[in-house]
Amino acid sequence: MIVDEFIELVKIDAESGHEAQMAAAVADKLRSIGLEVEQDDAGNIIGRMPAHGSGCSCGDAIMLCAHLDRVPPGKGVNPVIRDGVIYSSGDTVLAADDIAGVTAILAGLRMAKASGRCLPQVEVVFTVSEERGLRGAKQLDYAGLASKTGYIFDAADPVGTVILSSPTHMGLEVQIAGRAAHAAANPEDGISAIQAAAEAIAGFPFGRVDAQTTANVGIVSGGTATNIISERAYFKAEVRSLDHQRALDLAEECATRIRDTAARRGARADVAITVDYRGYTIPKDAPVVERAVGALKTAGRDAVFQSTMGGSDGNVFNAHGIACVVLGVGSRNVHSTRESQPISELMAAAELARDLILVE
Ligand SMILES: [Zn+2]
Repeated sequence: MIVDEFIELVKIDAESGHEAQMAAAVADKLRSIGLEVEQDDAGNIIGRMPAHGSGCSCGDAIMLCAHLDRVPPGKGVNPVIRDGVIYSSGDTVLAADDIAGVTAILAGLRMAKASGRCLPQVEVVFTVSEERGLRGAKQLDYAGLASKTGYIFDAADPVGTVILSSPTHMGLEVQIAGRAAHAAANPEDGISAIQAAAEAIAGFPFGRVDAQTTANVGIVSGGTATNIISERAYFKAEVRSLDHQRALDLAEECATRIRDTAARRGARADVAITVDYRGYTIPKDAPVVERAVGALKTAGRDAVFQSTMGGSDGNVFNAHGIACVVLGVGSRNVHSTRESQPISELMAAAELARDLILVE
């Protein structure tokens, strides 16, 4: 049943920005489980299951979240099962990222309801365009959510993994303006934007800057012809740090250094800095973590705490005051055509969703 539903959903084409059919399918499923469902303007699906049970304390509301979109090539997914593991047929991703999370939550809800036990209010958020800079989560109406704790089913790690921290991610977009001249007739009259960019990039702190911090220049372009001293150059960089202030400071430092380097060459650098998402660190004794540990214990699994240098919807939820951890769903080699999902891990993720709802 859970495998059938996983296969049904991965077969729906749902690359980022094209989740309408997927959203409609999961909205129907949530309704059939008994949730009230709405879709916001961004396309996110929000389902609400009221607390139920009489004469017992059902606890505070919790949120379960996964994303509906997938990275390309994610159209025409045709899953195959070999030795208990689901793969794509090799020319697309599998979309276990994040249909494993979606399927686990749906199955967990059904099992929790079927248990007949008293349930807390559960809010399910299925976001769109997570893979495009967490866009869906960024447009969500947080005032409309009752939960103060939540679980993001979206880590490509074994079930049991609980991600407690994630970095602040800064973007730097750099435009360098020089002066054009003929490269051979009168090179003295030109100022090469490419040369200024090259010097600025050579001085950029690539790689692991410290134990909590990384930096990279990932895109470079500029110039129009070899016989023209380039007037314009462009590059894009990022800085990440588990220490929020460190990320802000390093991005500013880099920007200053880039501007100074360009100015020394007689060029001008305009640097736009953005906070693409904010980092978080959840303490091990936080209630959101203790509930996850308790739920894992029910299934006889130990929690494995990790930090990540990647972002997820969890960054946005945490920044909006909903304490969230990201949970492993067992998928492997995500964002590649070798992506796979062990069926046993899919079941374990579903049981974890159930036990997060039921744990007291
Ligand atoms: Zn994902």
